[in-house]
Amino acid sequence: MSKYKPTIGLEIHAELKTQTKMFCSCLNDPHDAEPNTNVCPVCLAHPGSLPVINKKAVESIVKVGLAVGGEVLEHSKFDRKSYFYPDLPKGYQISQYDLPLIKGGKLADVELERIHLEEDTGRLAHAEDGSLVDFNRAGVPLMELVTKPVIKSADEALLFARELQLLLRYLQISDADMDKGQMRVEANISISSGKKLGTKVELKNINSFKAVGDAIASEIERQTEILEKGEKVVQATRGWNENKKESFPQRIKEEANDYRYIPEPDLPPMDFTSGDGIDIKELEKELPELPWQKKKRFKKEYGFKDGDILERLIRDRGEAEFFEEAMSEIGKKDKALTTLVANYLDSDLIGLMKEGKTDWEGLKITPENFAELILLIDKGEATSKIVKTVLKEMFETGADPSQIIESGNLSKSGEDEVERAVDLVLSENKKAIDDFKKGKENALKFLLGQTMANLRGRGNPELVKKLLLERLSK
Ligand SMILES: [Zn+2]
Repeated sequence: MSKYKPTIGLEIHAELKTQTKMFCSCLNDPHDAEPNTNVCPVCLAHPGSLPVINKKAVESIVKVGLAVGGEVLEHSKFDRKSYFYPDLPKGYQISQYDLPLIKGGKLADVELERIHLEEDTGRLAHAEDGSLVDFNRAGVPLMELVTKPVIKSADEALLFARELQLLLRYLQISDADMDKGQMRVEANISISSGKKLGTKVELKNINSFKAVGDAIASEIERQTEILEKGEKVVQATRGWNENKKESFPQRIKEEANDYRYIPEPDLPPMDFTSGDGIDIKELEKELPELPWQKKKRFKKEYGFKDGDILERLIRDRGEAEFFEEAMSEIGKKDKALTTLVANYLDSDLIGLMKEGKTDWEGLKITPENFAELILLIDKGEATSKIVKTVLKEMFETGADPSQIIESGNLSKSGEDEVERAVDLVLSENKKAIDDFKKGKENALKFLLGQTMANLRGRGNPELVKKLLLERLSK
């Protein structure tokens, strides 16, 4: 155990998926392949253009605030944060300084400082003969959430980031995909052996969950080594190099007043008491069941214990909803059936979806058909041998399982028939078996054809192939 205790605070930015940008009516599509198409005089900072507040973006932040139990400030405002960088057309960013939309709150046992709304910057691309700017992202609504410096380890920080991503997805206000830059994590880290806090280092460029854990752990180690040598940690901003697994110095940290914050003169202060169009009570009613509430209910209603399968069901709102719909089709909360549904859903169906790059919206299997398959398994009418085959066909065609079993002769009695046919064909075709064992792929096709002919087409080719291979490998 190190004698130095880490103190970590996180600053997390997330792009909101509103229809339009924060202060203009440009399409909010920062990942548009064609650069500089979602732009207008407002987000390009042409003189005389005026910003207008995107109400949906404000409501999104208020929802996050309500979900984490923060205080929604009835009087809030936007401020100009000045700095000069080529991706910032105005020379300042519209952000919030002393009156953020949300103060306080708590998520995953971590106390929050504030949550505010600002606009994203454009993006630079560096080419050999110069730099290029794409302003599609300029003016995209951006949430900034700041935790209090109360996180004690890299693992705790990672857990927090995951919980926040999950919350944003449940609220459907951001996809919060770190790989796509939709969620960006910065960490302030210091270590100290006494009561007095150590010197703070800000870590940026953390672009994946893995990097959140790695970067923070590595920074704690780096600072520990410095102090062990009797040297001093320098207050600075450092970037994380994912490939090298090490941080590098970026710049000496600016003081807050370097940004010369001033209230944004082109936007009226927000006042939720005077019917500014934001109805906090209404937004509270719109909140969906939150991840931690769902988890609690799943334990109570379905008898789940803490563990991986519950975590995975909750982590994907689509999966949790499919599970519940299938359970309601089954109509009873039997422990064995619950386990069957959860397992076949979480391993087999999710596996097929990943393979076929299918999302919940594009899924052809209905919860009703899925429930029917589970009941067939439970009754022993669909044996483990054929379940995968049936499920695959359901996945591809959306057909119902009884039909697939019927037409493919996959019922229990049909399966016996197929087994008999396979054994018969194998006993009559010793040469083909030898050929197959010598590596002739065609021999398998021949045996498959013979078996299908024997079954007069009433066999499922997948099952026949599976049984043939099983026997041939003996
Ligand atoms: Zn615009």
